[in-house]
Amino acid sequence: MIDANRMVESFMDLVRIDSVSREEGRLAAYLQKQLEALGAETVFDGSAGQTGSDTGNLIARFNGHGDQPPLLLSAHMDTVEPGRGIQPILKSGRITSDGTTILGADDKSAIAILLEALQVIKTSGRPHPPLELVFSTCEEIGLLGAKNLDWSLISARQGYVLDTRDPEGLVVRAPSANRLKFTVVGRDAHAGSTPEKGISAILVAAQAIATLELGRLDAETTCNLGVIKGGDATNIVPKIVQVDGEVRSHDDGKLAEVTQHMINAFEKAAASHPERRQGELPWVNVDVHPDFKRTHIPNDHAVVEMARAAAARLDRPLSLQVAGGGSDANVFFQQGIMTGVLGTGMTDVHSVREYVELEDMVKACQMVLEILDIYHQS
Ligand SMILES: [Zn+2]
Repeated sequence: MIDANRMVESFMDLVRIDSVSREEGRLAAYLQKQLEALGAETVFDGSAGQTGSDTGNLIARFNGHGDQPPLLLSAHMDTVEPGRGIQPILKSGRITSDGTTILGADDKSAIAILLEALQVIKTSGRPHPPLELVFSTCEEIGLLGAKNLDWSLISARQGYVLDTRDPEGLVVRAPSANRLKFTVVGRDAHAGSTPEKGISAILVAAQAIATLELGRLDAETTCNLGVIKGGDATNIVPKIVQVDGEVRSHDDGKLAEVTQHMINAFEKAAASHPERRQGELPWVNVDVHPDFKRTHIPNDHAVVEMARAAAARLDRPLSLQVAGGGSDANVFFQQGIMTGVLGTGMTDVHSVREYVELEDMVKACQMVLEILDIYHQS
């Protein structure tokens, strides 16, 4: 039996341990103890060297009954800022922060749900399949933990990440994304006495941006310029401006096309400057960073079927969802591990208004237990 009180206590203990990205070590050590007490074999991978975290990803194995390949279950350990000194408050079944920090339900509600499911398995002695649990670092800063996971430690071919809101949903599609950084370089000059010696990097960037369409480009493609930094003072013609943006699409062809279109806009604005001659100012440096790659789980895949069957057993609907953002599931998918994303109830994440309803966590825990049962019997 799921013990809601035990789960909420465990959740509140987890959020009280600070674990902003790259500082997951204390939480990881705590979690390792909890998992070993539940019967897991645990190991840390060597990803800390690549991610800059104070710990590697934590992998926990439960042998289970039956000779199926293990099922993957995963959550990330890190949180965004402001995520230090979190004081969780439980009121009428809803857990919030005190309003000065995030809550950390993203993704510690998932960790608490997984711990509760394992607790239920241990105390009830119910048979379960072999499990591989991955608790990743640095998800919030570009899925770095998952991207640097030591795959030789993983043998699961399918599973679930718990890292979205709707406890009656399963995310089966997520986009690819590119991050773009444009650095426009002009020439500085005194804005009052010798402006003709200057080339305004801000003006060149503005001319490029004015030709772009931003926002939702079609049903499966979006693009955004989110940061502009440049210039030093009102009396100086600005030499450098940096513009950061992103493109996302469920179609990799469109992703490449829109990325190229944005690059062309900046290069054209620089090239058409009246002072520009071969190899001279203004120029644009473009840095394209592939952030994550799409996932697309077919509707008849076992990962979907098992979630559907679990929801049916619980007499509730399951909606198959398309995400606008990436998660560790994108990285698992690229490694050939079919990974759906289950909801935990986390709401208004990445804000000080973040909360989670205990009822939703219970629902998510029921889903996990049913899925394990269904996989075990398959
Ligand atoms: Zn998350």
